[in-house]
Amino acid sequence: MYSMQNQHKTRVELSADALGHNIDAFNSILSGAKMMAVVKSNAYGHGLVETAKIAEKKGVAWFGVDNVDEGLALRRSGIKKPILILGYTLNSRLRDCVDNGLSFMAYNKETVKALGALKLKPLGAHPSKDKKAAYVHLKIETGTTRQGTAGKELVDLAKSLQKISGVIIEGASTHYANIEDTTDSSYAELQLQRFQENLENLKKIGIDPPWKHTACSAAAILYPETYFNLARVGIAMYGLWPSKETQAVAKREKRLIELRPALTWKTVIAQIKSVKKNTPVSYGLTEKVTRNAKLAVLPVGYWDGYDRRGLSQVGQVLVHGRRCKVVGRICMNMCVIDVTDVPRVKVEDEVVLLGKQGKECISAEDVAAKIGTINYEVVTRINPLLPRIVI
Ligand SMILES: *Cc1c(COP(=O)(O)O)cnc(C)c1O
Repeated sequence: MYSMQNQHKTRVELSADALGHNIDAFNSILSGAKMMAVVKSNAYGHGLVETAKIAEKKGVAWFGVDNVDEGLALRRSGIKKPILILGYTLNSRLRDCVDNGLSFMAYNKETVKALGALKLKPLGAHPSKDKKAAYVHLKIETGTTRQGTAGKELVDLAKSLQKISGVIIEGASTHYANIEDTTDSSYAELQLQRFQENLENLKKIGIDPPWKHTACSAAAILYPETYFNLARVGIAMYGLWPSKETQAVAKREKRLIELRPALTWKTVIAQIKSVKKNTPVSYGLTEKVTRNAKLAVLPVGYWDGYDRRGLSQVGQVLVHGRRCKVVGRICMNMCVIDVTDVPRVKVEDEVVLLGKQGKECISAEDVAAKIGTINYEVVTRINPLLPRIVI
């Protein structure tokens, strides 16, 4: 039952059912707004192309990536839906965006200048997605103090974009700074108000982009007034709550949805050995077993994304549905666990590093608490070179 036949000693399994369930959950609360599946950073560790193909079948309208190369990887895999690059796009890659129909964020005048230098053909009266154009989303600074621009600078930027042939202002967006970390929505409300003021300013110069979007997962779960016509959903699509606070407010406001974690990170046992009480284990001899023990060597380490600083000596994994502790230091490609209490354990038995096995579960939140970070970082850090297997 706990042995697995496969070609990869360590792998990440992606549940198409769980992902599909979470997407359906959003489609049912978005009240007509469309969903952008945020698949940046290798789909938060879940596998970029694997995730996007499932999401496309589920009918998501947009994909959000961090950079041109992720967008190109999606295009190469046959994804035809609109793709928005959420992070910074180098001026030298704007041509790639135009050639591959990748929409991108604009907030710098240098971007406007580089777009002018592309000398794109005028689009005529009826631009369509088949014509090569630069599809721009204005990024509006409303208080996150990150990417974006606002006020007169935004209006000037939009005006100069309007003058460049082949440029379409397709969207306007902003991003909230303080939704996940609080149960108080006042700063988000202030940002939303500033967003609306900036939209008004744009309207005055005749710019009313067809796509307006502000919501991330937490906003999409909690605040329908942030939807406009598109919500950018990342973490919750993967079945993880943006934070405890988001979950608490959802409960309070009767907006809880059921999220199913889609990722299971697995490895196998490489060796089993019995050692005497007080035997030191792994580099630096940082821990000695406190009893006569049975140890298992796992072929997984910090290269794979298994945190050395936070999980050496204290990490837990599942073997035969039981929690087993990491013993000693985590190495580059290996670590050691205590399997004394697991009967009939054998070489190549399945080990779960993250996710469910039997009745037990190691959640991304458990690991995050141990290593002093958030669930986002736990899944995103899993080495992208490990195979992603859709189940
Ligand atoms: C990553 C990202 C999102 C998704 O945020 P989640 O909290 O994972 O839903 C949305 N918008 C922007 C601009 C992002 O960078």
